[in-house]
Amino acid sequence: MNSSLISKVEKSRRYADEPERIRFQSFNVRFDGENGEHTVSMAGADFSDSSPSFQSQGTSSHIMALQKILAPMLTEEQQTSGAPFSFSAQSSSYVSKVEKARMYAEEPQRVKFQTFAATLRGSHDEHKVSMDGEDFSCDCHGFEAQGTCAHIMAMQRVLADMLTEDQQTAGQPFSFSAAE
Ligand SMILES: [Zn+2]
Repeated sequence: MNSSLISKVEKSRRYADEPERIRFQSFNVRFDGENGEHTVSMAGADFSDSSPSFQSQGTSSHIMALQKILAPMLTEEQQTSGAPFSFSAQSSSYVSKVEKARMYAEEPQRVKFQTFAATLRGSHDEHKVSMDGEDFSCDCHGFEAQGTCAHIMAMQRVLADMLTEDQQTAGQPFSFSAAE
Protein backbone atom coordinates (compact mmCIF):
# COMPACT_ATOMS: atom_id res chain seq x y z
CA MET A 1 0.00 0.00 0.00
CA ASN A 2 1.46 3.35 -0.98
CA SER A 3 1.66 6.49 1.10
CA SER A 4 -0.81 8.39 -1.06
CA LEU A 5 -3.43 5.74 -0.37
CA ILE A 6 -2.72 5.85 3.36
CA SER A 7 -3.19 9.60 3.44
CA LYS A 8 -6.43 9.28 1.44
CA VAL A 9 -7.76 6.70 3.86
CA GLU A 10 -6.86 8.87 6.85
CA LYS A 11 -8.47 11.89 5.30
CA SER A 12 -11.63 9.96 4.49
CA ARG A 13 -11.81 8.72 8.08
CA ARG A 14 -11.64 12.25 9.39
CA TYR A 15 -14.34 13.37 6.94
CA ALA A 16 -16.56 10.47 7.94
CA ASP A 17 -16.21 11.46 11.60
CA GLU A 18 -17.47 14.92 10.70
CA PRO A 19 -20.65 14.22 8.70
CA GLU A 20 -21.70 17.88 8.91
CA ARG A 21 -19.16 18.40 6.10
CA ILE A 22 -21.63 16.58 3.85
CA ARG A 23 -24.73 18.17 2.31
CA PHE A 24 -27.15 16.14 0.22
CA GLN A 25 -28.71 17.85 -2.80
CA SER A 26 -30.71 14.86 -3.89
CA PHE A 27 -31.05 11.12 -3.49
CA ASN A 28 -33.14 8.13 -4.34
CA VAL A 29 -33.37 5.21 -1.94
CA ARG A 30 -35.24 1.93 -1.58
CA PHE A 31 -36.79 1.62 1.84
CA ASP A 32 -37.61 -1.83 3.14
CA GLY A 33 -40.60 -0.94 5.34
CA GLU A 34 -42.82 -3.22 7.41
CA ASN A 35 -45.54 -3.14 4.74
CA GLY A 36 -43.31 -3.57 1.74
CA GLU A 37 -40.64 -1.80 -0.22
CA HIS A 38 -40.97 1.89 -1.00
CA THR A 39 -39.04 4.37 -3.08
CA VAL A 40 -38.16 7.57 -1.28
CA SER A 41 -36.51 10.49 -2.97
CA MET A 42 -35.36 13.96 -2.08
CA ALA A 43 -34.58 16.86 -4.42
CA GLY A 44 -33.63 20.14 -2.80
CA ALA A 45 -35.93 20.24 0.24
CA ASP A 46 -38.73 18.21 -1.39
CA PHE A 47 -39.25 14.63 -0.36
CA SER A 48 -41.50 12.08 -1.97
CA ASP A 49 -42.44 8.53 -1.09
CA SER A 50 -44.26 5.87 -3.12
CA SER A 51 -46.30 4.89 -0.01
CA PRO A 52 -50.01 5.87 0.14
CA SER A 53 -49.63 7.81 3.40
CA PHE A 54 -47.35 10.26 1.65
CA GLN A 55 -50.10 10.98 -0.92
CA SER A 56 -52.57 11.93 1.81
CA GLN A 57 -50.28 13.56 4.36
CA GLY A 58 -47.20 14.85 2.60
CA THR A 59 -44.81 12.84 4.71
CA SER A 60 -44.32 9.26 5.91
CA SER A 61 -42.50 7.23 8.56
CA HIS A 62 -39.85 6.44 5.91
CA ILE A 63 -39.19 10.11 5.22
CA MET A 64 -39.09 10.91 8.94
CA ALA A 65 -36.66 8.04 9.53
CA LEU A 66 -34.37 9.33 6.77
CA GLN A 67 -34.56 12.84 8.21
CA LYS A 68 -33.38 11.38 11.52
CA ILE A 69 -30.66 9.09 10.14
CA LEU A 70 -29.20 11.71 7.81
CA ALA A 71 -29.81 14.73 10.08
CA PRO A 72 -26.21 16.01 10.30
CA MET A 73 -26.00 15.92 6.48
CA LEU A 74 -29.28 17.77 5.84
CA THR A 75 -30.13 21.45 5.97
CA GLU A 76 -32.64 22.74 8.51
CA GLU A 77 -35.21 22.99 5.71
CA GLN A 78 -34.62 19.39 4.60
CA GLN A 79 -34.84 18.14 8.19
CA THR A 80 -38.25 19.75 8.74
CA SER A 81 -39.75 19.20 5.28
CA GLY A 82 -43.26 17.71 5.54
CA ALA A 83 -44.48 19.91 8.41
CA PRO A 84 -47.14 20.17 9.92
CA PHE A 85 -46.63 16.40 10.08
CA SER A 86 -43.31 17.08 11.68
CA PHE A 87 -42.31 16.46 15.25
CA SER A 88 -44.74 19.12 16.56
CA ALA A 89 -48.15 17.93 15.30
CA GLN A 90 -50.32 15.63 17.43
CA SER A 91 -52.72 12.97 16.26
CA SER A 92 -52.81 9.24 16.88
CA SER A 93 -51.86 8.42 13.31
CA TYR A 94 -49.06 10.92 13.60
CA VAL A 95 -47.83 9.43 16.86
CA SER A 96 -47.73 5.95 15.37
CA LYS A 97 -45.78 7.32 12.39
CA VAL A 98 -43.25 8.92 14.69
CA GLU A 99 -42.78 5.68 16.63
CA LYS A 100 -42.31 3.73 13.44
CA ALA A 101 -39.86 6.33 12.18
CA ARG A 102 -37.86 5.98 15.41
CA MET A 103 -37.71 2.24 15.02
CA TYR A 104 -36.70 2.53 11.36
CA ALA A 105 -34.00 5.04 12.26
CA GLU A 106 -32.39 2.35 14.45
CA GLU A 107 -32.30 0.03 11.45
CA PRO A 108 -30.51 1.95 8.70
CA GLN A 109 -29.89 -1.29 6.79
CA ARG A 110 -33.54 -1.00 5.66
CA VAL A 111 -32.36 1.84 3.44
CA LYS A 112 -30.49 1.21 0.20
CA PHE A 113 -29.23 4.20 -1.78
CA GLN A 114 -29.75 4.02 -5.55
CA THR A 115 -28.41 7.47 -6.39
CA PHE A 116 -27.22 10.57 -4.59
CA ALA A 117 -25.72 13.96 -5.26
CA ALA A 118 -23.93 15.68 -2.40
CA THR A 119 -21.21 18.15 -1.59
CA LEU A 120 -18.38 17.41 0.80
CA ARG A 121 -16.38 20.22 2.37
CA GLY A 122 -12.80 18.95 2.27
CA SER A 123 -9.74 20.50 3.87
CA HIS A 124 -9.25 22.88 0.92
CA ASP A 125 -12.35 22.99 -1.23
CA GLU A 126 -15.90 21.81 -1.45
CA HIS A 127 -16.32 18.85 -3.80
CA LYS A 128 -19.29 17.43 -5.66
CA VAL A 129 -19.68 13.71 -5.05
CA SER A 130 -22.32 11.59 -6.67
CA MET A 131 -23.36 7.98 -7.07
CA ASP A 132 -25.53 6.31 -9.66
CA GLY A 133 -25.98 2.58 -9.08
CA GLU A 134 -22.43 1.39 -8.44
CA ASP A 135 -20.75 4.31 -10.19
CA PHE A 136 -19.27 7.04 -8.03
CA SER A 137 -17.82 10.27 -9.23
CA CYS A 138 -16.16 13.33 -7.74
CA ASP A 139 -14.93 16.57 -9.23
CA CYS A 140 -11.51 16.40 -7.51
CA HIS A 141 -8.16 15.56 -9.16
CA GLY A 142 -7.64 12.42 -7.11
CA PHE A 143 -10.74 10.87 -8.59
CA GLU A 144 -9.64 11.75 -12.12
CA ALA A 145 -6.27 10.11 -11.59
CA GLN A 146 -7.21 7.05 -9.54
CA GLY A 147 -10.93 6.42 -9.93
CA THR A 148 -11.63 7.10 -6.28
CA CYS A 149 -10.71 9.65 -3.64
CA ALA A 150 -10.98 10.55 0.05
CA HIS A 151 -14.40 12.13 -0.60
CA ILE A 152 -15.90 9.00 -2.13
CA MET A 153 -14.32 6.80 0.55
CA ALA A 154 -15.81 9.06 3.22
CA MET A 155 -19.28 8.69 1.67
CA GLN A 156 -18.81 4.91 1.48
CA ARG A 157 -17.93 4.89 5.18
CA VAL A 158 -20.75 7.19 6.31
CA LEU A 159 -23.42 5.38 4.29
CA ALA A 160 -21.98 1.87 4.73
CA ASP A 161 -25.13 0.20 6.12
CA MET A 162 -27.19 1.87 3.41
CA LEU A 163 -25.04 0.68 0.48
CA THR A 164 -24.76 -2.70 -1.21
CA GLU A 165 -21.52 -4.66 -0.97
CA ASP A 166 -20.64 -3.58 -4.53
CA GLN A 167 -21.25 0.08 -3.75
CA GLN A 168 -19.15 -0.15 -0.58
CA THR A 169 -16.19 -1.59 -2.46
CA ALA A 170 -16.47 0.43 -5.70
CA GLY A 171 -13.11 1.96 -6.63
CA GLN A 172 -11.01 -0.91 -5.26
CA PRO A 173 -8.12 -1.35 -4.64
CA PHE A 174 -8.31 2.23 -3.39
CA SER A 175 -10.99 1.45 -0.88
CA PHE A 176 -11.18 0.81 2.83
CA SER A 177 -11.33 -2.93 2.59
CA ALA A 178 -8.03 -2.94 0.70
CA ALA A 179 -6.42 -0.68 3.26
CA GLU A 180 -7.42 -2.51 6.39
ZN1 LIG B 1 -12.92 13.64 -4.48
